Amino acid sequence: MNTKTVIASLAILAAFPALAEQAEHRHLGPHVHGQGTLDIAIEGKKIEMELVSPGMDIVGFEHVATTDDQKAAVEKAKGKLADVLNVFQLPAAAKCKTETANVESRKETHQPGEKDDDDDKPGEPQHSEFHATYTITCEAPENITGMKTAYFSDFAGGQLLNVNVTTSKGQTQAQMTREKPTLDLTGVM
Ligand SMILES: [Zn+2]
Repeated sequence: MNTKTVIASLAILAAFPALAEQAEHRHLGPHVHGQGTLDIAIEGKKIEMELVSPGMDIVGFEHVATTDDQKAAVEKAKGKLADVLNVFQLPAAAKCKTETANVESRKETHQPGEKDDDDDKPGEPQHSEFHATYTITCEAPENITGMKTAYFSDFAGGQLLNVNVTTSKGQTQAQMTREKPTLDLTGVM
């Protein structure tokens, strides 16, 4: 982690005291409500992305959808997430197109050895996540200088995306937030 990333992380914690608090009081599972993870791997003209977000961030609940409204909310969210180049917008000059987009909602998987006794208590809410994987190709990847996201306007519960970017030059970490829904990618290609 470089100094810039550390400062950015501290700034985010300062800007989101609620998130810091939530992190302390988080459930036993690996996810924190309000925070998703976006992994981006760029290799030549190919970009692979993986998004993992708490169901709470995407649809506002994590139990199994039972009512028609809940089921419709899940399907609508999946549809939005599948439209990856709308959710994660790349510069037009990069001439990118979606090759594959797979979106599923799944029960949160716990880390091996993690205590999850609480999850079996009757009435205890289950955690669930949305998991999306994408393959994108760009004719002019050298023009990928940044990314703009509609994630926070599409999904009311999302506050933060922790972003990992891997390119031939190495790996960098950054955050996109509701206040700053952009990612600077100059110099990573
Ligand atoms: Zn949860």
